[in-house]
Amino acid sequence: MNRMKKNDFVLFPHMSLEKLPMLTSSEKKLLSEQGFHTLDVILFTFPIRYEDWREPVPIRHIEPFTTVLVQGKITSIERKRTPRKRMRMYTMTIHDGTGTLLLIFFHKSYWVQGYTEGDEVLVYGHVEVDRRTPWMPQMTHPKVLLLTAAQKRKLPGRVVPVYRKNGKVTSYRFEKIIHRILFSEVELYDPLPRMVIKKNDFPSRKEALQFVHNPPHPLDMESKTFWKKPAIKRLIYEDFFLLQAGLLLRKRFIESKKTSYRIEVTEAMKKEILELLPFELTRAQKRVLDEILQDLTSTRPMHRLLQGDVGSGKTILALLAMYLCVKNGYQACLMAPTEILAEQHHYTFKKFFKHLDIPVVKLIGSLRTADRRVALQWIRSGHAPIIVGTHALFQEGVQYARLGLVVIDEQHRFGVHHRALLRKKGHLPHTLVMTATPIPRSLALTWYGDLDVSILDELPPGRQKVRTILKSTTHRSVVYSWVASKLAEGHQAYIVCPLIEESKKLQVQAATSLYEKLKRLYFNEFEIALVHGRIKPQEREVIMEAFHNGHIRALIATTVIEVGVDNPNATIMVIEHAERFGLAQLHQLRGRVGRGREKSYCILMAPPKIGRVARQRLKVLLKYSDGFKISEYDLKLRGPGELAGVRQSGLGRLRIGDIVRDAEYIPFIRKDAEEFVQNMIQRKGIGSKEVRAFLRYWVEHYGLSQVG
Ligand code: ADP
Ligand code: MG
Repeated sequence: MNRMKKNDFVLFPHMSLEKLPMLTSSEKKLLSEQGFHTLDVILFTFPIRYEDWREPVPIRHIEPFTTVLVQGKITSIERKRTPRKRMRMYTMTIHDGTGTLLLIFFHKSYWVQGYTEGDEVLVYGHVEVDRRTPWMPQMTHPKVLLLTAAQKRKLPGRVVPVYRKNGKVTSYRFEKIIHRILFSEVELYDPLPRMVIKKNDFPSRKEALQFVHNPPHPLDMESKTFWKKPAIKRLIYEDFFLLQAGLLLRKRFIESKKTSYRIEVTEAMKKEILELLPFELTRAQKRVLDEILQDLTSTRPMHRLLQGDVGSGKTILALLAMYLCVKNGYQACLMAPTEILAEQHHYTFKKFFKHLDIPVVKLIGSLRTADRRVALQWIRSGHAPIIVGTHALFQEGVQYARLGLVVIDEQHRFGVHHRALLRKKGHLPHTLVMTATPIPRSLALTWYGDLDVSILDELPPGRQKVRTILKSTTHRSVVYSWVASKLAEGHQAYIVCPLIEESKKLQVQAATSLYEKLKRLYFNEFEIALVHGRIKPQEREVIMEAFHNGHIRALIATTVIEVGVDNPNATIMVIEHAERFGLAQLHQLRGRVGRGREKSYCILMAPPKIGRVARQRLKVLLKYSDGFKISEYDLKLRGPGELAGVRQSGLGRLRIGDIVRDAEYIPFIRKDAEEFVQNMIQRKGIGSKEVRAFLRYWVEHYGLSQVG
């Protein structure tokens, strides 16, 4: 006899369906067709609501506008037409000895088929009252089941979870599957350490999931208390804990590695580069530069996040780090989220490195085939020490000779996995990621938990606060006449076209017509240009260069200029239909001006009547210029899913955790995760099987991609 002992068999979260002994092969097939590939995907598909089939309510006692279960006999079934619209309908009356309930079904006889007068049924539905017949409660399209059928499905007497239907996997079928898994003898592996469970008095994973899928009383998922129930809290905790532990473990793992790119920086070298700059670094810049240099010259790879508000001068620090890297014989690359920004960096870098005789190569998606071939060849041979580009930098076919430093600009626009992909191009290269979107602590811990953080909390000298003004679209002509007068004085301006979410094409059309109108009515004496996503790259490059050197006075643009674009002479930003933009976006757009010594203006244009939240957003922008404050409001007003970049960041993979709702737990969870990681490394060693398994499962689960 080869019977398995009870505890020999444990179900692991990432176990594939194939290995689940309690599923039939046809169930496995159905489930995997619907994307349920692992145990956890099944178990974390929560009910969308619960139905209370525990106790039928006597009809005499049922209250209007509640959802109830009734048991009774069918006393009539009739075909009728609605009084006014003459629609076909069917009615059924149910009597239970205490009163009569009217059931209404529209259109199809299908609803009443299979029932005859005298049948004993269970009815589950929402109670309504018709003003013309107030004495008789009624239900429209309730669930009706013959009592025998309901008994066969074991409905009576319990709370029934209802799942979203997935193809052929009905709620009923799914429930049966879950039930078989959760109420079988086999054990469910619990990834939360026993210590943590004990400390918080949590139920086990199995108990927690049993509670969700088979609660003793119906749960109201809309209510706040739902998320505070121990079982649910435990699952939330687990969600953040595993993400945190994964990030921390990976951080420690990277730190444990020796870098292959040890960089030497002598005092003379430092002095030399600082002398190359057209300005003196701010105190904050000097401090951060030191932090970066410390990483670069240490024995382990840098893994650092540089946070600094728009205009705080991050680019120059990246440039210096890249330069030192190149001086040591390695390649350095910088990745930007848009082609416009990549081109601008390319332009700035080229200007800087020209005197040093260091070539700068550009790699973006829209490169012509021949140019691309040359670029790839240079990158592969090591001929190109400095490479600037978009995500084209990490695509297949791009091979680096000795990539020692990776810089990612406007990191919040990329997903965590982009970061990992680019890093994979080198052998654990130094990594510097930069963002202008400061984020609240809860989010930072979760999102950037594996990075060291540097903060640029000072703007270069001479900057003035951008004057922000809200103007009604009815005053458009005043605004543009004023802009024209400013252009005449020698200023430069950006005019940003309204966001049209539905279609890129419409947006381009809107931008084009705004451009034509402005050209005709207000700016006919000035050189102005239109930029949007569909302008040919060569043309775009010419326009941007002409804008930088002042030849073009105003840019009419879509959001392609949202991040990073830097022209210190531009002092006016007009945002059309500002109410359509998110806060982070508005802050970034405003950050395009106020980069020089001249007074700058940001004009937000919105129609007189806008929604409440939109108005709040604009108010926040009028009141604050500090990006940190603004992003806090952003998080509050929009929720984390909407916060720029979170969705792509891999945080979308949190199963039930929610950064805003659960913010209060996060610091504690972080502490527990730190302790756990520390212990694990001490006991098992960083290179151990256990650590690797943890990284493999959880780091991959949260879309953080693999290490090393
Ligand atoms: P961001 O941090 O938004 O990327 P940038 O790096 O584009 O900002 O810098 C904004 C502008 O400030 C650039 O024109 C840059 O040349 C200038 N700048 C950066 N550092 C200094 C400094 N220490 N003194 C004066 N100007 C500076
Ligand atoms: Mg920048």
